[in-house]
Amino acid sequence: MDIQRPGTVASRPGPAEYFTGTVRFDAAFKRAAPATLSGLTVTFEPGARTNWHTHPLGQTLLILSGLGWVQREGGPVEVVRPGDIVWFEPGERHWHGASDTVAMSHLAVAEALDGVSVDWADPVDDSTYHGAKA
Ligand code: MN
Repeated sequence: MDIQRPGTVASRPGPAEYFTGTVRFDAAFKRAAPATLSGLTVTFEPGARTNWHTHPLGQTLLILSGLGWVQREGGPVEVVRPGDIVWFEPGERHWHGASDTVAMSHLAVAEALDGVSVDWADPVDDSTYHGAKA
């Protein structure tokens, strides 16, 4: 058993390459092989969101605080709240982030396939983020 205590992993910013707006990573963890699970807590300031992306083996989000927006390609922007558990299927193109006025944090966990747990794509433009129909 291992207990990773708060303060042992420093907070760090979400890289601008993959995120729009102000994003913070906390409490990242990664399990040793043969396990492939890793996770972290991500906090999005209002308006902040991920780029479009996929996860080769899917991803689970547990919404911890605030008000979030999530979207899978071809679907509507959906509101998520604390306690919601979101599952993105393997290869399902999507994004997640805060709403435009309220911050959101979630725990994100995913398994890796050949060492890869996420494949990043383009930023989510403002009209898509605000739920505009194409
Ligand atoms: Mn994701």
